Amino acid sequence: MGTYFLQTPFWLPLLYPSMIWKNNSANKNIVLTFDDGPHPIITKEVLQILNEYKVKAHFFCVGNNVVKYPEMFQEILANGHQVGNHTFHHVNGWKTETQKYVADFMETEQVFSSQFFRPPYGKISFQQINQLKSKTKMVMWSRLSGDFDKNISKEKCLENCIRKPLRSNEIIVFHDSEKAYSNMIFALPKFIEHALEKGFSFELLK
Ligand SMILES: [Zn+2]
Repeated sequence: MGTYFLQTPFWLPLLYPSMIWKNNSANKNIVLTFDDGPHPIITKEVLQILNEYKVKAHFFCVGNNVVKYPEMFQEILANGHQVGNHTFHHVNGWKTETQKYVADFMETEQVFSSQFFRPPYGKISFQQINQLKSKTKMVMWSRLSGDFDKNISKEKCLENCIRKPLRSNEIIVFHDSEKAYSNMIFALPKFIEHALEKGFSFELLK
């Protein structure tokens, strides 16, 4: 992983206005999102944490993982969470030809259909956006936990989540993946508690 912005700079959404960067709710709220699952053990633990705090989240699932772990995918839905397409093979849009990229998106749509999509790595070309924007709602984020970053401690991951004051309608990214596990499982409950203490609720995108 190269450099990345923990907070989305203000100009980035201006370049990609057809994508969702923030929720649009009148309530004081945060949107929780998890990428790269489902995973038979890690997703299960995430679901338990979310249930403890009675919060709902978005899971952007890799199609291939849904094929491998269909029961875990069903469990996400059964718990009232929202799912989204994260391509079938977790492809990098900047390194993938547009027709191939769209085909990978469609392969996942055949496994499960959803109204949301998040491009892996947030990397997608304008041409790919144009091909997909009528088919799905593309969800980006305002805040990264950086849980995927093997070079940071779990304490740093939590700091990434809470250092800048939370603003309403923010979208934060975690990962239910092996790579992110140790950081995520430490930071997630503490982040939820922090947000609840500050008076935020957790909402799903519409
Ligand atoms: Zn991903």
